[in-house]
Amino acid sequence: MAGGPLTGGCLCGGVRFRIDAPLVVASYCHCTRCQRRTGTASSAQARIALGSLAITQGTELVREYRPPDGFAKMFCEACGSALWSRSQDDPDVISVRLGAFDTDPGIRPSWRQFVAYAAPWEAVPDDGLPRHAERPPG
Ligand SMILES: [Zn+2]
Ligand SMILES: [Zn+2]
Repeated sequence: MAGGPLTGGCLCGGVRFRIDAPLVVASYCHCTRCQRRTGTASSAQARIALGSLAITQGTELVREYRPPDGFAKMFCEACGSALWSRSQDDPDVISVRLGAFDTDPGIRPSWRQFVAYAAPWEAVPDDGLPRHAERPPG
């Protein structure tokens, strides 16, 4: 990759990771679960190429929350930082939180999803991105 692999980590620095392939696609999620998880109005994340994530430090600090449905949420147990989510059906399907990257991840979110549940206290940005009431089709 140009500029070498993407790297990132958690707030306390205990968990470090590397991604060895270009990110696939990024989006914002406004669902209630993401609001709770992040404490903010929406969450930005990027789907990564299968098998491209390597934890380079702090594997023992990575904890996961498994909701009854949907992706498991990985976070640092020391500082609580959101790191990535992983399909409970196929653990290679992973989306990394854009805020976890050290540098420009080289991708921009291309839609907003679950806007039907958007926080009442922050307007959904008028940025021209497609808005999906729930999960995007396809
Ligand atoms: Zn941490
Ligand atoms: Zn969400």
